[in-house]
Amino acid sequence: MQMPEPDARVLSRKAEIVARLREVLPADAVIDDEAETRAYECDALTAYRCPPLCAVLPASTEEVSAVLTICHEEGVPVVPRGSGTSLAGGALPTADSVILGVARMNEVLETDYENRFIRVQTGRTNLSVTGAVEEEDFFYAPDPSSQLACAIAGNIAMNSGGAHCLKYGVTTNNLLGVTMVLMDGTVIELGGAHLDPGGLDLLGLVCGSEGQLGVVTEATLRILRKPEGARPVLIAFNSNEVAGECVSDIIKAGVLPVAIEFMDRPCIVACEAFAKAGYPDCEALLIVEVEGSEAEIAEQLGLITQIARRHDPVELREAQDADEAGRIWLGRKSAFGAMGQINDYMCLDGTIPVSALPQVLRRISELSREIGLEVANVFHAGDGNMHPLILFNANQPGELEKCEALGAEILKLCVEVGGCLTGEHGVGIEKRDLMSVQYAPADLEAQMAVKDVFDPGWLLNPAKVFPLAVSEARRAVAAE
Ligand SMILES: Cc1cc2nc3c(=O)[nH]c(=O)nc-3n(C[C@H](O)[C@H](O)[C@H](O)COP(=O)(O)OP(=O)(O)OC[C@H]3O[C@@H](n4cnc5c(N)ncnc54)[C@H](O)[C@@H]3O)c2cc1C
Repeated sequence: MQMPEPDARVLSRKAEIVARLREVLPADAVIDDEAETRAYECDALTAYRCPPLCAVLPASTEEVSAVLTICHEEGVPVVPRGSGTSLAGGALPTADSVILGVARMNEVLETDYENRFIRVQTGRTNLSVTGAVEEEDFFYAPDPSSQLACAIAGNIAMNSGGAHCLKYGVTTNNLLGVTMVLMDGTVIELGGAHLDPGGLDLLGLVCGSEGQLGVVTEATLRILRKPEGARPVLIAFNSNEVAGECVSDIIKAGVLPVAIEFMDRPCIVACEAFAKAGYPDCEALLIVEVEGSEAEIAEQLGLITQIARRHDPVELREAQDADEAGRIWLGRKSAFGAMGQINDYMCLDGTIPVSALPQVLRRISELSREIGLEVANVFHAGDGNMHPLILFNANQPGELEKCEALGAEILKLCVEVGGCLTGEHGVGIEKRDLMSVQYAPADLEAQMAVKDVFDPGWLLNPAKVFPLAVSEARRAVAAE
């Protein structure tokens, strides 16, 4: 993966820049020791690494503003970072950049149950937002599988989703407002505690902007009442395509489960070995969850199992109690960890129309055979958000490049069938050079014009989202 040449002028001024940052932050919030900066050299896309110039850990919006003011004056690139779980290399530093981590900003600032919102600092982890309101029977809906670790900051930047987003929508559907600091240190407020504040929808623009427009420091999030009950059913099949057809039929029938998750054999085997969830011996399985009152659950599950039976399942297992429901989810929730234990992998994130699932799964198997790398599939099937995991050996020369080539083919396939490059993980560095497969030059130009307005010097999160050659040219013009 090509990265830009670091700015020699910034590298040569490291000591002065660090000294200025120490004037506005506590001593332990500026990390410039080379060994310690290694902790920030990559995110969850570990194939690509580069230690930053230094890392800073501010604790408030004011401190973030002070850091950005200095970096702006010094012409230093800044890479915002939440918990570093991005699978797209979104938080990968460049050698001349300051990593701005929001991990210390994890306070709950306000909770309003009557008006159903919570305001938090964005370093707070996703799961601990629900943790803060569950005693009152509320929850925060977007639930990335990384929710124990990932921060609301990263969720907003990537517009993250999760298993239950089929019903509740992704981050953008649950975000009401943000406080954001622009690259020159200016603090702005977008949205608020109310629905649709009027004016231009800049909040919509910021959600999913991958740290390109500003550093989000506080967020107002919609919280929801917990449903009366929920129940998953596990449906096992002897073919990926048939499982795909079943998903397509469930969606076509107009039932709206809260989640439809898909796993294929390589994934099932890895999860069984890792989590011992009791999954059957089969080629593919679906976990379909519905929620509501007992009567609503029974009605929806009745319809779903009726559709599933038409596809001749090997097993249909409806959870009988909370324990069994937990076991059904256990394997799926630990899927990435389970795969990581046995192989290096790269996790893709293309989205396709649900009706194209059988065709796309078939073509992925063909591509996997042609290029000679195994692919395991685990994904949010209900909304067509695929996560093919390409298995490779990072220690074998040439395998990473083969993996990148297969990944590119699969993502192009997603675009070809009417889908897109990314459903929830973002573009980052991983897909930046494929953006012209999805967007015409004028479309990309419109997106870059937005960046020109928010970050005219192109200092925020360099080398991400836009094809490298194009963004570097833009950065050079901005620097003149
Ligand atoms: C095991 C595993 C499972 C996962 N499952 C899912 C899943 O189900 N659904 C899903 O959507 N994703 C999933 N992910 C991907 C990842 O967890 C999400 O993208 C998450 O939102 C990243 O959050 P983070 O705090 O770790 O962000 P980081 O990785 O630190 O950063 C991600 C991006 O956000 C930007 N950013 C960070 N903080 C700020 C800020 N304050 N202001 C502006 N920009 C900022 C960064 O520059 C970067 O571009 C998974 C990852 C792993 C490792």
